[in-house]
Amino acid sequence: MSIDCKFIEEKLIEYVYDEITDNYTIEEIKQHLKICFKCREKYEAYIKIKENIKKIDINFPEEVWDLHRQEIKKKLYERKTAIAVIKETIFNLFNIKKIVFAFLIILFAFVGIQFVKTNQENEKYKKIIENIDILENISVIEQLDFYTKIKEGDFNL
Ligand SMILES: [Zn+2]
Repeated sequence: MSIDCKFIEEKLIEYVYDEITDNYTIEEIKQHLKICFKCREKYEAYIKIKENIKKIDINFPEEVWDLHRQEIKKKLYERKTAIAVIKETIFNLFNIKKIVFAFLIILFAFVGIQFVKTNQENEKYKKIIENIDILENISVIEQLDFYTKIKEGDFNL
């Protein structure tokens, strides 16, 4: 069986997050990443995101995730296939920006109410702002989580 970039593309996030259990598939992905520059570039980008998420160590408010799920749900109602919706959303910068915007609103409210500034917390806030690019990428991961839920049937329309 030969595999192509499309297959890798579909599996890459799962691979990066060690969610693939099938050794044969893991091996195939490894081999492909050795020979395909394009996929390897993508792989390295995902790894970078993963590392950065670990670094910033913040919990994203459930409201943000929920808002985004609602957005996707709405599209599902528009009778698109789930996969098409996910793919479209992943590469839809507009939606990603919307999420970042929503996050910022919540963040500012949160900061206003709760973070009565110790130095440490200021530091954390600064870090979040510095990592705003990463936030855009995080929504990509969140969508994959959402997609997984659809696959597992843990999603009711
Ligand atoms: Zn490839």
